[in-house]
Amino acid sequence: MKKKIVVATKNPGKVREMMNAFQNLPVELLPLSAFGDLPEAVEDGKTFAENAAIKARFYMRETGTACLADDSGLSVDALDGAPGVYSARFAGWHADDAANNEKLLAELRRLGLAESAAAYHCALAFCDTDGVIVTAHGTCPGVVRLTAKGSGGFGYDPYFYLDNGRSMAELSLAEKDAVSHRGAALREMAELLSFQFEGWEE
Ligand code: IMP
Repeated sequence: MKKKIVVATKNPGKVREMMNAFQNLPVELLPLSAFGDLPEAVEDGKTFAENAAIKARFYMRETGTACLADDSGLSVDALDGAPGVYSARFAGWHADDAANNEKLLAELRRLGLAESAAAYHCALAFCDTDGVIVTAHGTCPGVVRLTAKGSGGFGYDPYFYLDNGRSMAELSLAEKDAVSHRGAALREMAELLSFQFEGWEE
């Protein structure tokens, strides 16, 4: 029998990335939508890890099923780590990527900067039905600049540059997975869960 895990995200892209990362594990990933209408978790943690754990515990209790949750975002050195856990709503509650990017550029300009060191972060939390939580974390260092490059990715990607001078939005999905915060966190979690579920049938 495979271990059933509900994935606490409504983003189908993230579910696909997780399925890919866990393809060799004896687990069956279920979308939140398989459990009907559920309330939303209140993400009021101060760190990515806290928010991931809050979501994983909340949806494990709501569904009675082991749950995997993630939280991610961008931390900019010149902005003292902002937008951080507020990355999705940097420009306000219903802000889209364009509004958040505008706010990022405005903040850099306000400081008279053309760029700043920055890093993407991703925290993953797995909460089993006994309440025990396992966490993993990935980071991707880079630089944010005032100029956009590339049309792939999402969020802050066109303004986020790697050491090799390419923006995150210029990478293919496979290239991004190899260097990204989410790719690193998923690989670490896959390794941790492979110990957790040793003995479960493939
Ligand atoms: P969440 O983890 O889905 O809540 O995402 C938080 C926010 O962080 C997103 O809305 C994006 O603004 C930003 N973010 C997280 N990961 C990435 C990424 O890989 N590229 C660009 N932006 C990201």
